[in-house]
Amino acid sequence: MRLSEIAANAEVKYEIAEAMRRRSLPHAILIEGEKGCGKHTLADILAEYAVCRAEGERPCGVCPDCVKAQKGIHPDIVTVDGSQSGALNIEAIRNIRSGAYIKPNEAENKVYLLLQCEKMLPPAQNAFLKVLEEPPAHVLFVLTAVSATTLLQTIRSRVRTFSMYPPSPAEAAEVLEKMFPDKPQEILIQAAQDSSGNIGAAIECLNSGGEEEKKAAEAIFRAIPLAAEYPLLLQTNSIIQNRAFALGVLERLCELASDCVKASCGVKRVSPVAAELAGGIPLKRLITIQRNIQQAREVLNYNVNLNFYGTWLCAALRRNENGGNYG
Ligand SMILES: [Zn+2]
Repeated sequence: MRLSEIAANAEVKYEIAEAMRRRSLPHAILIEGEKGCGKHTLADILAEYAVCRAEGERPCGVCPDCVKAQKGIHPDIVTVDGSQSGALNIEAIRNIRSGAYIKPNEAENKVYLLLQCEKMLPPAQNAFLKVLEEPPAHVLFVLTAVSATTLLQTIRSRVRTFSMYPPSPAEAAEVLEKMFPDKPQEILIQAAQDSSGNIGAAIECLNSGGEEEKKAAEAIFRAIPLAAEYPLLLQTNSIIQNRAFALGVLERLCELASDCVKASCGVKRVSPVAAELAGGIPLKRLITIQRNIQQAREVLNYNVNLNFYGTWLCAALRRNENGGNYG
């Protein structure tokens, strides 16, 4: 069941699962909760349920309707994002209203996902009320908002409200592990903690992190062999904005160092960047750099103060094979 993609919120998930099982979902649903707590994911699951035509459990996840819903291309699922200018103004609501009475194209039902309804002003809400009073039988309205109180009482009395809460960091990490099976567990736990359990924010951080971390790792590696210490210090101090990022950079650095050693030993299949970086550095020194990086990576497993880590890392990466510093 796709509901397991949502962290925590056991009560909401149970109620929704029961309603789906009995095929008795209300025609108008409001999901309230702060950004990143899973409102959009739940809304997508409800939409998939409404268009799915499987005999057994819905959404089945594999029928043509479910697949189209997952790809965001189902003709009977209309998503309106309130954060876009004018998306939920009175004109837009009137269009939604008249469209709602037209029969679905492919599925048995038609779904309107109205996201960020806190952006819907009272005149538009009043226009929307008309279709909520007598919703066509084939329509499911799913509204999301940071809080139900941003909507008129008349709207609230005609929708079934589900309140969602952000999960604890531990619960968030559990969900992230399923979504990012290749990422080291510490990075996932850290991302969950950095975002206070807010799954949406953690995913954003994990997704956008990859390229940035790679760039930072390369910049650090380039600065290690330089005679002057300052360029390296500048780079190491730029990665301590949060622990997940620092961990990601150190992971990349470990990979890079290992590739550089391989390149220096004549292994052909390493990245061009590693081959370039390894050029000109004696193998013995590369091995020392690799060992220093691995040790610095280990240190991050302990609860070190990040404010000092940047400076410490700079010195640690410049340690030579005899334990002293290059300079
Ligand atoms: Zn299906």
